[in-house]
Amino acid sequence: MKKKIAHQFFTNYLVVFALVIISTFLAFALLSFASKLASNVFAKNKYPASSIMKDDYKQIDTSQVVQNGGSVQVVDREYRVVVSEGKDVFSKKQLNASEFTEFLVWSKHKSTPFNHDIIYNPKGEFWLIVTFPASIRIDFSFIMNTDAAEGDFGKAVLILIGVVIVYLLVMAVLSIIYAKITALQITVPLRKLCDGTRLLREGDYSARVDLRLDNEFAELQDTFNDMASRIEHEITLRKKAEEDRRRLILDISHDLKNPMASIQGYAELLCQKPDIGEQACREYLKIIHQNSLRANRLLTELFELSRMDSPEFSIKKEKTDLSETLRQLCGELVPQLEQAGFKYEFDIPEKSVFVMLDKDRFSRIIHNLAGNALKYNPEGTIVSVALSVMDRQAVIDFDDDGIGIPAHLAQDIFKPFVRADYSRNSETGGSGLGLSIARKIAQAHSGDLILRETGKKGCNFRITIPLI
Ligand code: ADP
Repeated sequence: MKKKIAHQFFTNYLVVFALVIISTFLAFALLSFASKLASNVFAKNKYPASSIMKDDYKQIDTSQVVQNGGSVQVVDREYRVVVSEGKDVFSKKQLNASEFTEFLVWSKHKSTPFNHDIIYNPKGEFWLIVTFPASIRIDFSFIMNTDAAEGDFGKAVLILIGVVIVYLLVMAVLSIIYAKITALQITVPLRKLCDGTRLLREGDYSARVDLRLDNEFAELQDTFNDMASRIEHEITLRKKAEEDRRRLILDISHDLKNPMASIQGYAELLCQKPDIGEQACREYLKIIHQNSLRANRLLTELFELSRMDSPEFSIKKEKTDLSETLRQLCGELVPQLEQAGFKYEFDIPEKSVFVMLDKDRFSRIIHNLAGNALKYNPEGTIVSVALSVMDRQAVIDFDDDGIGIPAHLAQDIFKPFVRADYSRNSETGGSGLGLSIARKIAQAHSGDLILRETGKKGCNFRITIPLI
């Protein structure tokens, strides 16, 4: 059965309460024991007036009392102070009846700093007064008088029981209230945390807890909120990945549909009309061939991209002079650029720039960027390639002053199947995978490929590769 925290607290307080009562009784017992001990050790109890009393006051030995800090006075029936040893409590030699009576009343008073032991000797007709300065007073006594009226005892017991019951009730009520208040300090934050957890379980990943506390619960709250935001982040990422995957499948099927439909259509035509003539036949076969090449290229690139995403993917890097490699690659580009009527500028330093490079794959990046520049830009476009070193990185800026990529696509252009032209069966025949593959290759070299926002016309790509 679920046990409420308030009940638990109440039980605890009752136990504490019982312990308090037990310890109070113990304290009383100890006090009475202590007062007994004290009565044996205090000088006033060692030398009471009775211990030195003599019928003839002249024979009274006052020395022990005076040596122990006390004083002795004898007052005869004429109220004359006939003996005064130690501190004089009267400071006169002759008293009158009222003064003496006043002294007797005062001496019984508990607030006096002295303890007076006064005995009257009827034979000698004098009062013997032994005075000690009071040291400590322990006044607790529970006296049962056997001579009291019979009914009084029962009434006293009833009153005592009543007091105890009222005391217990008041303590119980206070314990309940206190238990409730302290329990609330725990149950309220717990409830809020429970609510937050429930919301999270039900899929509300934006759920957060605000306890406005400054204790251990605040730590729990922070941990909970941190956990919730991590989950929220993960879920967002997962949703995005899911969305990307869905879009990828859609794009693949869409991009494969056109060439496949074309191949199928022309192949059927050839089968159904074998006598269409050599010219048309060659034309159809050419279209079939082109479309199969296109489908094949798409599948090859897709395969390559997914291979790069697999954990087993690795590249074979070796120490390479990037200046040398880039000069060679740019040299290979020259005929194509010239043929397309493009202009070019290469700024590659003579000095060696050493990096760890998988040459074949790296050349894929350059060919891809060059291929795109050629594919998407008109005659007369200037392509420029520059190599520099910045912050322990080799930096290759691959720019053209062509049509450029719209700013709203700058972030997504490296995602598979993202194209600026949107006409999927464009004459350019692009798959939309080239830049994705190129970036993955750069990242596999612990570098990156980005599209820079330079404000200049055209595309400004930057490849970075760490120096050795
Ligand atoms: P594709 O196979 O379509 O070329 P990419 O991933 O290589 O795929 O390029 C994605 C898109 O980026 C292209 O379809 C094109 O619209 C745009 N693009 C890439 N490079 C350039 C460039 N140099 N000039 C203009 N547009 C470009």
